[in-house]
Amino acid sequence: MTIACADCGCLVERGVRVSTCAIDGCCCSELPTRQSLDDIAAQVTAAFEARDLVSFGALLADDARWGDDDAPNKCRSRRDVVGTFERLLASGVSGAVTETRTGPAGILCHLRVHWPDPTDPVRRDEVLHLYRVRGGQIVAIEPFDDRLAAEAALASS
Ligand SMILES: [Zn+2]
Ligand SMILES: [Zn+2]
Repeated sequence: MTIACADCGCLVERGVRVSTCAIDGCCCSELPTRQSLDDIAAQVTAAFEARDLVSFGALLADDARWGDDDAPNKCRSRRDVVGTFERLLASGVSGAVTETRTGPAGILCHLRVHWPDPTDPVRRDEVLHLYRVRGGQIVAIEPFDDRLAAEAALASS
């Protein structure tokens, strides 16, 4: 359902602006725009396809986060995140984006992952990543095992 903001005229659909007003100090400026999320989703997909970590890194905030505080490989910066992807690629792991969905929280990416070592204990063929977007940049990567939980997280900001 699309609603028009009564104060500025932005059209908002489930927390995402589908049409933006031209007002200085727009009261909806904190909400992501459909256009920016679609653009970032397309760039993420292209970066994975080309195995292009420079392009991928350019989409990340300087202090992008990935992994809980107690995770052994937690990332707290663009450099950490790109370095983790670099290590995965160097070990022969590859991934392709098979589906993206956008919502108030950012972009939910479905990844199909190929693991070279079939005995790798962490291997999962299907991976769900929520890329949280703030101010046009990916600020966090959150992995999900469960599609419903991932979609619920995507729908709340
Ligand atoms: Zn507005
Ligand atoms: Zn508004």
